[in-house]
Amino acid sequence: MKLIWKLFISYLVVVLIGALVLAETTSYTAPLTFQRHIESMRHMMDGPTHQSSAALEAELNQSFRDALNSSLLIAFVAATLTAGSVSFYVSRRILRPVRQLVAASQRIADGHYDEQLTATTHDELGDLTRSFNQMAQKLAETETMRQHLIADVSHELKTPLASIKAYMEGLQDGVIPTIPETFRQIQQEASRLERLVHDLQELSRAEAGQLQLQATPLDLKGLVQTTVDWMQPQFISKTVHLACWLPPSSVIVTGDHDRLRQALLNILGNALQYTPTGGQVSVQLQTKGHRAHLRVKDSGVGLADTDLSRIFQRFYRVDQSRARASGGSGIGLTIARHIVWAHQGDLWAESAGLGYGSTFHFDLPLST
Ligand code: ADP
Repeated sequence: MKLIWKLFISYLVVVLIGALVLAETTSYTAPLTFQRHIESMRHMMDGPTHQSSAALEAELNQSFRDALNSSLLIAFVAATLTAGSVSFYVSRRILRPVRQLVAASQRIADGHYDEQLTATTHDELGDLTRSFNQMAQKLAETETMRQHLIADVSHELKTPLASIKAYMEGLQDGVIPTIPETFRQIQQEASRLERLVHDLQELSRAEAGQLQLQATPLDLKGLVQTTVDWMQPQFISKTVHLACWLPPSSVIVTGDHDRLRQALLNILGNALQYTPTGGQVSVQLQTKGHRAHLRVKDSGVGLADTDLSRIFQRFYRVDQSRARASGGSGIGLTIARHIVWAHQGDLWAESAGLGYGSTFHFDLPLST
């Protein structure tokens, strides 16, 4: 039942109970009190001093008023006590969930995010309790994510920092030779740190939905072509064949040129990284209905079913040691997906399994 009806009925019940007690009390006490006055009048009439009829009438009126007043007073006290107790009980019942909510929100404010309440009613307070539970659950999830993020970030920062520290200590103790290669190694670790910090900034912006897009109508065909051309030398040097199929006419989408290129570079970079020498990578752009569809297929290491969605989670790397050795922090695909999402598109992966290559699909709405 809705709270408004509960309140209305409870007021009505209180008023009715008050009226009932009032009526009952008056009907019981009024005759008694009046009878008492009549008795005293009879004594006066039977007494030695007889009063005139006018004096008797006045006495009768006065008796009636007194009887009415005293019975009303008794009835009023009884009705107030009864109605007061009933409304106190009803208010307590209605306010119980509110008090529970207040206590629970205080516990949440103290950091106990796993707080959950039982919604016992089906009124607005029940709805409020259910919304409160959802909010508490979301807060608990956010807190867990925050803790994981801190753990992940510290872990990622620890490795290059420990490496730089080891090199510096080695140099100080004279254990590591002061040669250009040593400095190159230190610089590599520092660059890794720099890249990681940059990626983290990007990630936090992407996850907060604050990627700044300079959206303009652009030709996706041209963008794919220039990106493929730019990556071609790296593919050639690893002896991985890179093929590209583009539609005859331009493919116009509304988007941020640099961001879309960044996403494509990440996917192509991964395809190159996870495809061994002698392998093949193909890029195919098509239009399907009102969407542009880009497919990047490689003959590389492939992905297990369980990893297909996980690779888009931040810091997730299928092969931790190999990816880290190659400088990957497991953030690239997370950012790429957020970029595509910010363009109302989608990015997903498919694979026939480990050893059977992977295909990344990149889908964007065409400009109208
Ligand atoms: P990283 O910087 O580590 O490459 P990404 O977010 O770009 O981070 O990728 C996450 C993980 O997804 C990689 O560590 C890798 O395990 C897996 N992955 C990405 N692309 C491919 C691919 N084409 N083939 C196989 N695995 C891939």
